[in-house]
Amino acid sequence: MSLFSDAQAVIPGGVNSPVRAFAGVGGEPVFFRRASGSRFTSEDGREFIDYVGSWGPMILGHAHPDVIEAVVSTARDGLSFGAPCVLETRIAAKIRAMLPSAEKVRMVGSGTEATMSAIRLARGHTGRDKIVKFEGCYHGHSDSLLIEAGSGALTLGVPSSPGVPASLAEHTITLPYNDIDGVENAFAELGEQIACVIVEPIAGNMNMVPPVPGFHETLRRECTQAGALLVFDEVMTGFRVARHGAQGLYGIGPDITTLGKVIGGGMPVAAYCGRADVMASVAPEGPVYQAGTLSGNPVAMAAGLRTLELIDSEDFWTELSAKTRKLVDGLAAAAGGAGIPLAVEAEGGMFGLVFTDDGPVRSYAQVAAADIERFKAFFHGMLDEGIYLAPSAFEAGFVSGAHSDDDLEETIAAAAKVFKTL
Ligand SMILES: *Cc1c(COP(=O)(O)O)cnc(C)c1O
Repeated sequence: MSLFSDAQAVIPGGVNSPVRAFAGVGGEPVFFRRASGSRFTSEDGREFIDYVGSWGPMILGHAHPDVIEAVVSTARDGLSFGAPCVLETRIAAKIRAMLPSAEKVRMVGSGTEATMSAIRLARGHTGRDKIVKFEGCYHGHSDSLLIEAGSGALTLGVPSSPGVPASLAEHTITLPYNDIDGVENAFAELGEQIACVIVEPIAGNMNMVPPVPGFHETLRRECTQAGALLVFDEVMTGFRVARHGAQGLYGIGPDITTLGKVIGGGMPVAAYCGRADVMASVAPEGPVYQAGTLSGNPVAMAAGLRTLELIDSEDFWTELSAKTRKLVDGLAAAAGGAGIPLAVEAEGGMFGLVFTDDGPVRSYAQVAAADIERFKAFFHGMLDEGIYLAPSAFEAGFVSGAHSDDDLEETIAAAAKVFKTL
């Protein structure tokens, strides 16, 4: 019997979120016992350098003392009120200061809730039903967003999970990421029916795929002309790739932004935010309904606020970006030395590694065509060396402020060893 089989007896698939089950790489998942800084210890007593960071939130490293202190001291005064508290105002003001397009902010509990609410808001505000999303982007698991492209670009979408009504799929148009012509055609044909375009400004759920020049500018222009809203899903990129989000990096102002992951510092926190006149449609100010019993609870707000305060400096981002750059450059050089084709990406504390000679990677098709078997062998080789990467070829990686030069050098040396075996 293993910890995983014990879990499988009482939890579907043994996990509370599918990718954790290691189906993408084979073998049994590692059970975490405790984590601190860049490292964690497994239940069987092994130590690993962590490049998943809870899928992005742990930008300061695990168990940062200031964040833990904020959580513990706030918890002593009560876990949840279900009534206004000052910490909610303070985190909203902090997000607005860091993200200029966020004039008003509504806190929710997960990224899924944030994107689901943003879609409802866009539909309610515009009075339209259709939404446009992109292949390879992930926006959580709400019905309208678990839909993939049908057989032709503008034909009806199809549910990507049983349980999603086909009648909802007809409202979701899925286009290839970075396909500027596809966006222009969709708007030429259906522009007046489109409530919003939702996009990961840097895609991080199909490994890491940055936008091509002109992609976001096209989205902004087409949405404005058609009276549709532009929704940047920055649940992953928000305060992970840059101090002012991906939107700060590219100089694009979306109408609505969804946030999650980093803004909770490891607690279940997410938000949707944006133009004051659009957010004015949200209840109780406006008619678009959305609510949450535990939303804005003081302990989660304290963790998020302290995290944002600690990362809101140029020095933090200069250092974090340099670390990530050092890691991917080292990995690329080691792969090159072993004759292994590897395309790398890095932005802020986020990175991508794709085993392909077809770089740079700018589409889902390129990620899907990469050497997934080689990734699996690399993943397990690194795991044996004490390096924990995301257990799927379709995920991005994350470096935190707690990763030291020694951590990075140890990782590159381990990779150099593993590449020779691939
Ligand atoms: C993680 C993620 C979500 C979903 O967030 P959850 O908190 O897992 O529900 C949505 N959008 C993007 C871009 C994400 O990376």
